[in-house]
Amino acid sequence: MKIQFVDLHAQYLTIKSEMDAAIARVIRDSAYVRGPFVDKFEQDYAALFGVPHCISCANGTDALYIAMKIMGVGPGDEVITTAHSWIATSETITQTGARVVFVDTDRDTFTIDPTLIAAMITSRTKGIIPVHLYGQAADMGPIMEIAKQHNLWVMEDCAQSHLARFQGKLTGTFGRVSTFSFYPGKNLGAYGDAGAILTSDAELARQMTCYARHGGLTKGEHVIEGINSRLDGLQAAVLNVKLPHLQKWTAARQRIAARYNELLAGVGDVITPPVAPGRDHVYHLYVIRTEKRDALMAFLKERGVPTVLNYPVALPFLKAYAYLGHKPADFPVAYSHQSRILSLPIYPEMTDEMIGYVVEQIKAFYARA
Ligand SMILES: *Cc1c(COP(=O)(O)O)cnc(C)c1O
Repeated sequence: MKIQFVDLHAQYLTIKSEMDAAIARVIRDSAYVRGPFVDKFEQDYAALFGVPHCISCANGTDALYIAMKIMGVGPGDEVITTAHSWIATSETITQTGARVVFVDTDRDTFTIDPTLIAAMITSRTKGIIPVHLYGQAADMGPIMEIAKQHNLWVMEDCAQSHLARFQGKLTGTFGRVSTFSFYPGKNLGAYGDAGAILTSDAELARQMTCYARHGGLTKGEHVIEGINSRLDGLQAAVLNVKLPHLQKWTAARQRIAARYNELLAGVGDVITPPVAPGRDHVYHLYVIRTEKRDALMAFLKERGVPTVLNYPVALPFLKAYAYLGHKPADFPVAYSHQSRILSLPIYPEMTDEMIGYVVEQIKAFYARA
């Protein structure tokens, strides 16, 4: 049996007729950049979260950058974020001219450890960016509390956490702003790049919209210099077809994760991904830990099971951040995770047979080793 890490085509086949018709309508109407399909997506996405404003943009990285620019982040400022994420989270801080301040993660949830945040706050700190990594909500209770005490904004990076909740409340509804990616492999994915920002702050929403459209909301008038970061009509149409299925697809991911948890319990030294009380997990990625990571990864590859490292080097240890001079002892948890984590295949269309095959190969590895 040949397993794929993610099978986007399998999902397309389940919605093919709707999808083909939706794409044809965009072409019929030449509604390529912004337009009615984009408006519909912004309205529906905001409504799903019960938040008044959704500002669509070109990708999830721009969403982070636009939000920080408009919140006034710039040279001389510091922004706190997690040591374990995709580089988009931290590179956009640097793009604004501010300095990235990393905080280590929690051993079980891979999300920022709130007990370590206060020690990193200085007079230059402007905000905190928690990431709901792999799809599990970060510990938003204490994070919001610390932010409030120190008068900092919180911006949630929800690129991996569509519909995940913290104590029953959706991720993306805690921070002053929250950002989403609809990169094709994300839990809600377009057929190209796409992103969005959510906020309840009308003035911030207006300014972010303006900045993302060359600094102007009416033709010919540019109140500031902005950037070009627009959602295109084809991507919006794709997202409009997929959005009504998101709940069902999320439940499928959770069912697959539960099946993995059950079948992998007690297998070798595998630690399945724990979920902290009060938080839920939408399993953008299903990440196990093992001391034999590299050998297991190679074995699985031979047996037709692709796995991925998300991410092989924690952010502070990337070459890009060598200038910060961090040592492993500064972020012991993120450092220890980077050589132990392994992402197994997961996507809503995965069958029990496929899950069974993946688990059998993992068992075969430990039987041999
Ligand atoms: C995917 C991702 C982003 C960036 O989104 P793009 O749409 O690829 O620009 C940001 N943060 C995290 C945690 C991500 O996983």
